[in-house]
Amino acid sequence: MPLCVMGRETRLIAVQKIGVGKLTMRKQFKKICLNCNEPFTTIRKNQKCCSIACDRELRKEQQRQEISKIPIIQTWACGGGVQSTAIAVLITLGELPKPDYAYMVDCGYEKTKTMNYVNEITIPKLQKVGVTLNIIKGGGPIIDTNQYILIPAYGNENGNIRKYPTFCNDNWKVVPSKRWLREQGIERCDNWIGMSWDEEHRKRISPLWWIQNKYPLCDMKLTRWDCTKIIRDNGWPMAPRSSCLMCPLQDDNAWFDMKRNWKEDWERAISIEREIQKVKPNTYLHRSCKPLDEVDFKIMRTIQREILF
Ligand code: SF4
Ligand SMILES: [Zn+2]
Repeated sequence: MPLCVMGRETRLIAVQKIGVGKLTMRKQFKKICLNCNEPFTTIRKNQKCCSIACDRELRKEQQRQEISKIPIIQTWACGGGVQSTAIAVLITLGELPKPDYAYMVDCGYEKTKTMNYVNEITIPKLQKVGVTLNIIKGGGPIIDTNQYILIPAYGNENGNIRKYPTFCNDNWKVVPSKRWLREQGIERCDNWIGMSWDEEHRKRISPLWWIQNKYPLCDMKLTRWDCTKIIRDNGWPMAPRSSCLMCPLQDDNAWFDMKRNWKEDWERAISIEREIQKVKPNTYLHRSCKPLDEVDFKIMRTIQREILF
């Protein structure tokens, strides 16, 4: 049996011809494709494009035009650390415009010294120039219902050390911040992120059409060192590095500082590690894969001086 090489529409016409028993042609419309401007003929009166690909392109373009009509709101995701504090200083100086919305996600594991700094320094100073820094609730469990560890902890399988993937930031911070932005009625925004120029390789394009990530410190070519200088030169106390108190990515200096100066945070980190080990026995917060309270932290002499005295 020969293969049918007719297109669907040709076949339809052919069927009609057979049905009526004489040669009749369905009415054909001559049109110009709204996407590529090429002429084409069709039996469908409402067809706008010459092909499915052109139709898809046209729809995309119409969506782009609809989106471009939505006003862009400026939002700032404050992280509470050095780079975010530099952004706060630049806002108070008028070197960055005031954002329409400023927010920080408290995931429930923030270090006490970070929250103290934000509450005692950043919030009041921003308030003076009319910017409200909203603290929004985020966070969640460290181990999910499927017993996956969400933080980048270290697992020791018979001497093979592996780091767990990082899901915490998305789950605890990114998802709640998107929800909060929507709750404020924001339909489209430029969302500022405090990433300095030396970290430019970490810049990401937002997967959501309504959020566009913006990196003002990268645009201004300001490094982390520049940020510390901006904070100091403008008379603000130095901001602490921000991270969760049990974050396995922190260095020995940060662990040692917490052990020495922030007892409650230190105790909490130890108890979190023990809770994790009840589910995953050979999992640790420190890369040496030793229980936290047995780790001999290697700290730099200059920093040791800062932490101890
Ligand atoms: S600071 Fe560490 S533990 Fe906290 S969200 Fe980021 S990666 Fe996860
Ligand atoms: Zn076309």
